[in-house]
Amino acid sequence: MTLSRRHFLTLLPAALGAGVWLKAAAQSEGSIMTVTGAISPYMLGPVLPHEHIMVDFAGADKITPGRYQEEEVFNTVLPYLKSLRAAGCKTMGECTPNFLGRDPLLLKRLSIASGLTIITNTGLYGAGAHKYLPAYVQTSTAEELAAMWIKEFRDGIGDTDIRPGFIKSGVDKGPLTESQRKLVHAAALTNKETGLAIWIHTGDGAAALEEAEIIQSNGGRIASYTWVHAQNEKDLSIHEKLAKAGAFISLDGLSQNSAEDYISRLSFMKNKGLLQQVLLSHDAGWYHVGEPGGGKFRDYNFLWTSFIPMLKEKGFTEEDIRRLTVINPSRALTIHPPARKLLAMPS
Ligand SMILES: [Zn+2]
Repeated sequence: MTLSRRHFLTLLPAALGAGVWLKAAAQSEGSIMTVTGAISPYMLGPVLPHEHIMVDFAGADKITPGRYQEEEVFNTVLPYLKSLRAAGCKTMGECTPNFLGRDPLLLKRLSIASGLTIITNTGLYGAGAHKYLPAYVQTSTAEELAAMWIKEFRDGIGDTDIRPGFIKSGVDKGPLTESQRKLVHAAALTNKETGLAIWIHTGDGAAALEEAEIIQSNGGRIASYTWVHAQNEKDLSIHEKLAKAGAFISLDGLSQNSAEDYISRLSFMKNKGLLQQVLLSHDAGWYHVGEPGGGKFRDYNFLWTSFIPMLKEKGFTEEDIRRLTVINPSRALTIHPPARKLLAMPS
């Protein structure tokens, strides 16, 4: 009996069991970890890679889970997520790190209620002059920090079964402090062990160059590295240099005010043949813990309702837009199986 390829693919999951099928797919082409479990990189759809649902700026020494009412946050944020879903976005990278208000159970509830795929993170944020770093960072080695982040990926965050989909760290302008260098080193070790992507909030281009050097010299993949807030750097030769090396350049403060500047930066990258290394997002939201009603909430819709039409008017093609909103974020979030695991796979 001969089967058409399509027919064969229809039968395969039933014959093998969907779990085996998904595992094989994950091993060959990587996977994406969402707050509701692992999915194929092809299932992300249009993505906002850098947004926030809730942030608490109290500082690592003061932050506690009891500082907000979960129901109030849920009810405040849900309409914005539904509106974003209706505008055509399917997935959000939620970039709030641990000790700044990361709440994986809240994200999972909101993901299920809104229909939006949400991805959370592991890691520690060393920008803001270390205000958001717990005291143990000072006395821990990079290996010890990496072990905590790897454990979150393997076993789930805290006592949940929710796993991070990327590493989120943060540093100020270069040169990096000793603790910030340690965080980037720990991120490289975590990437090497798990394949999780490394996203770093970065003060300027000098810091980004230092991050790339630390990641590579500690066995991390440069193609797993995203330079977050690359719009902070005016010297576009640094964007060009790091994009050519394989890093992702995240322009993630998009708003009405920054739109013209973003179009000129995107035109620069397109002319250099580097549009495939660029990510776009608003860094919007969010429920501000400690402010009445969560303070002023910025919605997530500008990219979909206003900026894409502006890009088209400036000559960006449908393919360019698909690259920026679908393909690039999927590549930047894909968990690549470490080479030694691939070598150990039966052939
Ligand atoms: Zn942010």
